Formats: sequence, structure tokens, C-alpha cells
Amino acid sequence: MIAKVIVDVANSKTDRSYDYLIPDEWTSFIEKGMRVIVPFNNRNVQGFVVDLEEHSTVPNLKKIKKFVDMSPVLTGELLDLGFWLSEAALCFKITALQAMLPVALKARYKKQLERVQADMLPKEVNDLFQKNDLIDWDEVIKLPAGLLKQIQKLIKAGAMKMVTEIKDRTTSKTIKVVKPAMGKNDLLKEIETLTPRAKKQKEILEWFLVHFAEIPSNELLMKLHATRSTLKALINKQILVENDRKIYRDPYEAASFKQTEPLALTDIQQKAIQPILSSVENSEQEIFLLHGVTGSGKTEIYLQSIQSVLEKGKEAIMLVPEISLTPQIVQRFKERFGSDVAVLHSGLSAGEKYDEWLKIHRKEVKVVVGARSAIFAPFENIGMIIIDEEHESSYKQEENPRYHARDVAEWRSKYHQCPLILGSATPSLESYARSQKNVYHLSELTERIHSQSMPEVMIVDMREELREGNRSIFSRILIEKIKEKLDRKEQCVLFLNRRGYSTFIMCRDCGYVAECPHCDISLTYHKNKNTLKCHYCGFEEMAPNRCPDCGSQHIRFFGTGTQKVEEELTKLMPEARIIRMDVDTTSRKGAHEKLLSAFANKQGDILLGTQMIAKGLDFPDVTLVGVIAADTMLNLPDFRAAERTFQLLTQVSGRAGRHKLQGEVIVQSYNPEHYSIQLASGHNYTSFYLTEMKARKAHAYPPYYYLTLITVSHPELMKVIAVAEKITSRLKKELSNKAIVLGPAASVIPRIKDRYRYQCMIKYKNEPNLFHALKSILNQYENELGNSGLQIVIDSNPYMLM
Ligand code: ADP
Ligand code: ZN
Ligand code: ZN
Repeated sequence: MIAKVIVDVANSKTDRSYDYLIPDEWTSFIEKGMRVIVPFNNRNVQGFVVDLEEHSTVPNLKKIKKFVDMSPVLTGELLDLGFWLSEAALCFKITALQAMLPVALKARYKKQLERVQADMLPKEVNDLFQKNDLIDWDEVIKLPAGLLKQIQKLIKAGAMKMVTEIKDRTTSKTIKVVKPAMGKNDLLKEIETLTPRAKKQKEILEWFLVHFAEIPSNELLMKLHATRSTLKALINKQILVENDRKIYRDPYEAASFKQTEPLALTDIQQKAIQPILSSVENSEQEIFLLHGVTGSGKTEIYLQSIQSVLEKGKEAIMLVPEISLTPQIVQRFKERFGSDVAVLHSGLSAGEKYDEWLKIHRKEVKVVVGARSAIFAPFENIGMIIIDEEHESSYKQEENPRYHARDVAEWRSKYHQCPLILGSATPSLESYARSQKNVYHLSELTERIHSQSMPEVMIVDMREELREGNRSIFSRILIEKIKEKLDRKEQCVLFLNRRGYSTFIMCRDCGYVAECPHCDISLTYHKNKNTLKCHYCGFEEMAPNRCPDCGSQHIRFFGTGTQKVEEELTKLMPEARIIRMDVDTTSRKGAHEKLLSAFANKQGDILLGTQMIAKGLDFPDVTLVGVIAADTMLNLPDFRAAERTFQLLTQVSGRAGRHKLQGEVIVQSYNPEHYSIQLASGHNYTSFYLTEMKARKAHAYPPYYYLTLITVSHPELMKVIAVAEKITSRLKKELSNKAIVLGPAASVIPRIKDRYRYQCMIKYKNEPNLFHALKSILNQYENELGNSGLQIVIDSNPYMLM
């Protein structure tokens, strides 16, 4: 038998499968989706078996050396998905395949084969175990082929499993567990042969006869008031067996969840869920765009849709943006589906992520709630995929493979013939446009549950404040309102948009701005350490007291950080209890949750924070939301700037008055007449959509055109320009005259980490030739890529244009 193997060597020449002979004894043991070690160019490398064939046309085949897995780590579907992904994202096949596995699987960890149910094992397999239920991997790979095949079957049947020891000092936990080393009949015989004096031993064995299950040793001893030496005797006689059991590092274990029942849906919810349920019923692949204002009951629709999927015996994937993967949303899923839920997000350690992945792989859970990469969950019978807040840019991965989770979800929903639900209060223009063309089925939830009105939004013109002599960060009305709420013991959320805005140092005499010596970008001032820091390369230096250019002492920092807002606020109202949430206060693990629950328990009056407080939070007593500077993003050189501003303002104002109390929102702005700010305050998505679509059409941007951005970088400016020019002219030649090829031009940030950056943008509607052209450009520069320091990044459907 021949295995087709994709080796772990990432370059264009090896970007295909190679044929290897499967040693005779391993035929029918090696399966598609397993990893193996093969000889390649005089060394041993790891690779994925992607197919099996009887014959090969290649002479003198080499043999597979070792296997890495006892059972496939990638399903047939995920292998296909990987091939599609490598084309769609223009990356190597091996890169796409690796991206679908948890990191813990990629590293070398100690692996062992564990016996789970001794009574299901034939004698020759049971005989392999000596002291406990584990065999080291080094021993496993030496086993004769006949045994390997048996073991493989036993793993599938759940009688044995592979375990990986991942050292996670912080979270891993092992306990001793004990269980019978034999079947029930033998156990009964052992009980009969015990001497009458061994009363406690008998009691223990009788317990096992009834329960016949594994139990933590300590728990058993406590239950039966037995001593450790009694148990030890039974273990020594090999009637019972004791193991170290690594217990799942469940990050939400501590919280206990009350089970919740589905709520009776409102008429509007009913209307929205009906087509989804019928699509589940008929196993139809359909894409739904669920457009519902915040608090309109989308999450309840997700929960009940998933419920219907579980009732059909299928599985569901629910994606949420990293930033809104808060304990609140996880809790709602755990309360409804209990231990059927796995949670995947970047706050977990490698070991925790691996544990959650294993639960999915072993079919111990039915639902996964997770951030972007959870779209690769190795379920095999998917009945639904949901992407909440589908407009969020965090669904786009900004490193290889540069994929958008929405596209992967669409692929998988086609494969499984199941519905895909995209939910948002502010759908991306791309998705809403598709719903207008009936490519997506649009469902709208136009009202909040219990018909609370949307909060009243007031826009304050900060230029006017300045003209009237108010130089503070806060408008007079905002301060007045905060005081009013505090008097009434209600809570406020103050939001500071940091994206595209930061504190920088400027000389008032000569206009000097402190910039990073390695990147063409201004340095950010950090007050607590009095340093200047570059957010692109990490460069850090002490803040100067004098201008390095003219020597003036009038050098000071500008801009508004959360710290500064907090200081000013404390000056104005020393009695207010402020909880500040930003990168500085939330860097420690668990800090995020702590601060939020302190606010929920009313240990704070004002929650002050950045992006991380904009979403998903639901506090009943918040009646005022203040947006300190609404327009900082509008000045970014990004065609989505208006869309992002609209989305963010809508999200933030959704935090106010979600329950019985009416909410108010105050938006401070220097561009109060901008349509994104005006229409967000009026909660008018449709008008925003129409206005923004006109702008996109006029400037040939998505959704009217697709975009591909090519960024060339190199330490030498001349080299960058030369390569960028060659690429641009080649593309102009090879693409149709309907494609618009722009550039080359210096990137918005022309230098990062001492590398100059030039870019070229392609706008197109239909270019069947594009993929081929881009691939051959990459191949042309292949040899220069790593060696000479040249870098070419191709990003289709880019979200970062800088
Ligand atoms: P969204 O996800 O659109 O922001 P949620 O699903 O979180 O909305 O619903 C907002 C609030 O209304 C939640 O507290 C939720 O428990 C409640 N809710 C949702 N649907 C119903 C219903 N049918 N009956 C009663 N309360 C509901
Ligand atoms: Zn100066
Ligand atoms: Zn830098």
C-alpha cells in the first residue's frame, strides 16, 4: 500500500503530496488523517497522510518510518477543507493543515496509551500493562502490527485512549483514581475467595461490583470509611488498579451552572426562527442573516436553534468574537447545554485548549463555543454553524493562512448541508448586500424584547465646548449626567475608543513628534513608567524632558488615555468609584472577569474602558453610556472607517438601558455631522447602509469590488520599489482590463521594524486568472523570499490596510 504524504517542509516545491510505501505490517493500520514520520531529503520529517492508494508510478519508494498518531487527527472533511484553504488563502498545504490543529499537538509532548476498560480488552492486550493503565508511546510504536490494529479498534470503541501530558503548571491537576482490573465475573470470584477477616476489602470490592466504575481513590475511602492500606492491598493483588488521572482543566469548572429552560419566544422571534428550524429539519444548506438590534433576543434564537440540532443528534459550532467571549455568554450556553459544551478561546493555555479540542475529537461534547479558530472543530456531523457579531474584523486571521471564518463556515455548511446563521446588530455591508440580493435569507428582529425603547442618544459637539471655554475631556452635559446617575445609585459606562488614537509626545515650539527609530510611526506615551513605546516593534525609551530637536522644554504629551480620563474624573468627582478596564488593568489572567463581576456587584459606579467593554456586557443598572471621542477612527486611512465607527457606536449605546430602566447615551465628537455618527445615534442601520453603499460604489470598494492587497517589504528601499513595480506591471499585463491595479505606493506605515513597505492593490469583480497570477508571482520570488530578507504578503479581502 502507498500513502500520499504532505511533508512539513513549507516551500512551493514541496507543496504537494509524496508517495511512501506503508510497511506491510502496517497496511490497514495507517489511515488517512494520521501523522507519520518519513525520510525526506536525508532527514526525517513529519507529515500528514492525505490519501491511500494501491499502487504508485514512482520508482524506488521509501518507507514510512514511524507513526505519530494511533487514529486520525484530521477527518477526511478537514483534509479537503485544508486543500481548499491553501488555494483560497494562497498558502502552503502544510500551513493550512497545521492551522486546524491545536498547538499542543504540534509540539513534542509525552504521549501514552491508556487502558480505559480492562474488561473489554483481550488478554494479549491486557498483558501489555504492568504497574498501571499506561504504556509509553516509545513502547507502543514497537508493538507488532497485529496488536496495533486491535488497539486501534479498541480506541475507536472507547476501551483505550491516547493521552498527552502537557505541563501546564498553572492549571493542570492530577488525582489518583481506582477501578477494577478485571471483569465483573472475575471480580465476583475474587470476593468469594477473600478471607472473612478481610471485611473492609470485601466492602470495597462489593462497591465496585455494584458501580463498576472508576472513582477518585480518596472519595472511595471516605465513602466507605476505609483506610489507604486496605485499598493498597487490593491494588497489590492486582484486583484493583490505581492510576493518576489528569482531570480536565475546565476553565469554567469553578462556576456551577443552573440549568435553564428555553424561553417562550415572542412573535417576532418566532417568525425569525421558523425558517431556520425548517432548514434544520430538511438538512438544507442555507445562509441566514439575523439582523437584530442589541437586546432583541438573538442569543435565545441561537440557543433554541442549536437545541433543535442536538435533538437530531447533530453538532453545532458557535463563533463569537474573541473580545466578547465573556463569561456571560459562556454561562448562557453552559446553563442551557451543560457539559455538552466545549469552549475555545485565546485566554486558555495550550493545555486547556488541547483538552477542549480533545472533548470535541472524542465526541464528548456536542456544542463548541469559541473564537475564530473554533471553526475548525473536528466534529463530523455538523447540523449548524452560527457566527455572532458577524461584522467583527477579528474573524479575519491576519497571519498565514489569511482566512475569514465566514468563508470557512460557508464551506463547511455546504459540506454538511446545514444552515449557517450570521447574526449582528450591524451586519457588514458585504453580508447585508448579499441579503438584499437574496443570496442570504434575511431575518430581522426590529424590537428589543419587552419592547424597551432604544436609548436616547445625544451628540455633543466638542468644538462648541472648546469655543465656550471648556478645555476638559468631558463636556459639561456629560459631567452633569454622570452626577445625576450617581445620585440615583445607577451606573455609568464610559467608553474611550483607543483604536487609531493614542497619546503621543509633541514639542509645542517646533512641532517635533517622537517617532520610533525602526518604524515610521509615532511612539505612544506610557505614563506609569514615563516611557515611550512603539506598538509595532516593541521599542521602548525614556520620555524626554527636552525636545531633542530644538531643546525646548515645552514638550508634552497629547491625546487621551484611559489613565488620564480616570485622573480627570477623580478630580471632578472624588466620591465616584471607578473601575478601569484596559490592557494595563486586565493583563493578568482572570483580571477581566474580576473587574466585570465587581461592577456587576455594584462595587463600582463607573466602568471606564476601551474596546473590550463595548460588547456583550449586560448590566441592569447601567443607565448612562458616555462615548468620550466618537470619531477617532474616522481619520484612519481605511475604507471601512465609517462602517466601523457606526458599528462601534451602535454596540456601545446598546449597553444602556437593557432592562427596566431607560438608558441614555452621550456621544462626544469633533465631527458631529458625519453620517456614521448621526445615523448611529438615530439607530438607523438602513439609512447608513444606503449611504455607505453609495460611497463604496463611487470609490470601487467592497461589496462592489473584491480587493487583494500585496505588501512588499525589505530592509532596502530601492529593492522594495523595484520588486513592487515589477509585480504591479506583471499584474496589469496578466489581468483583464476590468481589474483595477493600483500602485505601487508606499504603505500607510512606510516602515516597520526597519523594513520598508510598498503595496499594490487589486480591485476586481471577476478574475479567473488572479489566483494563478499571484501564485506564479510568489513562485518567481521564492528563492529571494527567506534568504535576502524580501517579504511578499498577499492578503485577499484585507481588513488591515496599513
Ligand atoms: P441579543 O443577543 O439580541 O442581544 P438576548 O438574546 O441576549 O439578545 O436577549 C436580551 C434579553 O432578553 C436577555 O436577558 C434574554 O434572556 C431576554 N430574552 C430573550 N428572549 C426572550 C423571550 N422570548 N422571553 C423573555 N425574555 C427573553
Ligand atoms: Zn522642539
Ligand atoms: Zn517600532
